[in-house]
Amino acid sequence: MEKILYGKKVAKKILEDLKIEVEKLADIGVVPLLTIFLVGTDPASDYYSKTILKNGNKLGIKINLISLKKDIQENELIKQIENANVDPDVHGILLQMPLPSHLQPDKITMGINPEKDVDSLHPLNAGKLLLGKECFIPCTPAAVLELIKFYKINTDGARVVILGRSNIVGMPLANLLLQKCKYANATVTVCHSHTKDLEEITKSADILISAIGRPYFVTANMTKKDSIIIDVGINRILDKDSKQYKFVGDVDYESVFEKVKAITPVPGGIGSITTATLMSNIIKATKISLKENK
Ligand code: NDP
Repeated sequence: MEKILYGKKVAKKILEDLKIEVEKLADIGVVPLLTIFLVGTDPASDYYSKTILKNGNKLGIKINLISLKKDIQENELIKQIENANVDPDVHGILLQMPLPSHLQPDKITMGINPEKDVDSLHPLNAGKLLLGKECFIPCTPAAVLELIKFYKINTDGARVVILGRSNIVGMPLANLLLQKCKYANATVTVCHSHTKDLEEITKSADILISAIGRPYFVTANMTKKDSIIIDVGINRILDKDSKQYKFVGDVDYESVFEKVKAITPVPGGIGSITTATLMSNIIKATKISLKENK
């Protein structure tokens, strides 16, 4: 296995495969369409939307970005989502998070049609994922799984430790790696801010996945020799020397590098795959809509 697990290679392969799918849909006159709801002006969400637009354009997927005022009323946002739910030309719906504090994310995500829920925010999709049923896999856990498949990382019987238990990364990822199937079958431990003796746990990991949002948190003494490190964290910090902002992971890459068998870089790791897995979910949603309209 290569020592540096680059995400771009994985994304390239996914996008090449999807191009064929998009062409097949075009042959029958179908152009996949994603509607993004962006409320207010969160810089990270704005950046993500632009990346999605760029990738969608390249691939032949239409992206309709709906930018809404930050003081939009909850009912008005739900109404707009309902319009997209029933519009047969819209195949996927993405609600950008975080939402302004006066909006209740749980209530609003419940309003997304689960069959168009390409970011897998609806509880129905979360429940299906838990039970190992066919569903949309949230884009970041899906990106981790794609990396595991691409580099043929053996998870069967492996001890996997995940740092972070959020609903969008840690929790679904733990469930996916626990499933009784290929590229899963792992023994999974999930850690969070209340975990005691964290270092003892991380040191036992054959595969350590960090998704906590703490720059340079994982150091060499927390890792097992020859383990595999997957760094999901994306943290913006001010570089002392250049006085410029830069992105780093949760893992102290320099200190860990010599000790481990393989590691994902930040940037250029999981983050590079996430948009490709979103594109994959849009194609899946498009196919679902075709089956329903038969
Ligand atoms: P959240 O803030 O929602 O969750 C963070 C999790 O980390 C929580 O479960 C929290 O524990 C845990 N945690 C925080 N501090 C510690 C600590 N000191 N020790 C152990 N656990 C800790 O973050 P997200 O899941 O949304 O994102 C995590 C990281 O992944 C971020 O850096 C984010 O930028 C990145 N990310 C990357 C994506 C990509 O495409 N590559 C996509 C999405 C996120 P508790 O539950 O107890 O609070």
